[in-house]
Amino acid sequence: MSFQTPILRTVDDLRDQIAHWRNKGERIALVPTMGALHHGHISLVELAKRHADRVVVSIFVNPKQFGPNEDLAKYPRQEEADLQALSRAQTDLAFCPTVDQMYPEGFCTNISLAGMTDVLCGASRPGHFDGVATVVTKLLLQAVPDVAIFGEKDYQQLQVIRRFVLDLNIPVQIIGAPLIRDADGLATSSRNAYLSAEERVIAKQLPATLIQIAEQARGGKPLQELLETGKKLILEAGFDTIDYLEFREASTLAASQIVGHDTRLFVAARLGKTRLIDNIPV
Ligand code: AMP
Repeated sequence: MSFQTPILRTVDDLRDQIAHWRNKGERIALVPTMGALHHGHISLVELAKRHADRVVVSIFVNPKQFGPNEDLAKYPRQEEADLQALSRAQTDLAFCPTVDQMYPEGFCTNISLAGMTDVLCGASRPGHFDGVATVVTKLLLQAVPDVAIFGEKDYQQLQVIRRFVLDLNIPVQIIGAPLIRDADGLATSSRNAYLSAEERVIAKQLPATLIQIAEQARGGKPLQELLETGKKLILEAGFDTIDYLEFREASTLAASQIVGHDTRLFVAARLGKTRLIDNIPV
C-alpha cells in the first residue's frame, strides 16, 4: 500500500505527535499553507525535507488575513486532493485545524508590525499582514518546529515573518524558498485557478514585463522612467489596474533609488477578479 499522510485537526494532537518525534531526537520542519496545493507548495516540502527528519504541512485558510471585500468565501478548498498531493510527496503530517480551533470564542490578540507592513501589499490590503503575523505566530508556537519554510513568491510576507520571529525571540529558523513558475512564466499560485483562458494569456505578460524592466534597470536606465514604461506595458497587455510596481531593497523593503546588489522589482496587478503578485531580483 502506498504512503498516506495522516491528518490532525487539534493543537493538542499536533503537540503530542511532535513531542513523540522530539523524544526520538528528530528535527521538525513546518510548512504553513492555505491549501489548494500546487508544485510551488510541494517545492517547499522538498526543501523542508533537506532541513528536518519530519515535515508538517499546515492547511488553514486564515480568515484574519482577508479583507472584507476579498476572496475568503471563494478561496479554493480541496482537502482530499491536497492530502493526495502531500501523500505523494511523502509528507509526514497534515495539520488542518478548524477556524474555532485557531480562533476560539474570545480570541482578541493581534500581532502587528510597524513600517514594513505599510508598503507594497500592506498598502493595498490594510490589515492583511496583521492577519498573517497573528496566524503564523500561532502556528510556530503550536508546533515549535526547528525550521519553518516560506516561499519568495510572497516576498514581503517572508520578510515580515523574519522580522517578527527575530523581534519576539521565537526559537525557529525561517528559511526562504525560491519562487516557482508555471511553464509560461506566470508565478504558480492557488489564485491562478480564477483566471479564464483569455486572462491567462494576458497574465503571463506580468513576469515578461518584470524581466524586461529589470534588464533595462541593470543597463542603467533611470528607475522612475522604467516604472512608468512598465506600468504602461502591463495595462496595455490587458490588466485592469496596478496596485504597485516598485523597486525595493530585498531585506528592508525600503524604496530603491538606484540599483544595488539587494534590489528587487515587485508588482501587484488586477486582472478581472484576480489579483496577481510577482517579484524578481534585479
Ligand atoms: P499560500 O498557500 O498561498 O498561503 O502559500 C503557502 C506558502 O507557499 C507560502 O510560503 C508561499 O510563499 C509559498 N508559495 C506559494 N506559491 C509559491 C510559488 N509559486 N513558489 C514558491 N513558494 C510559493
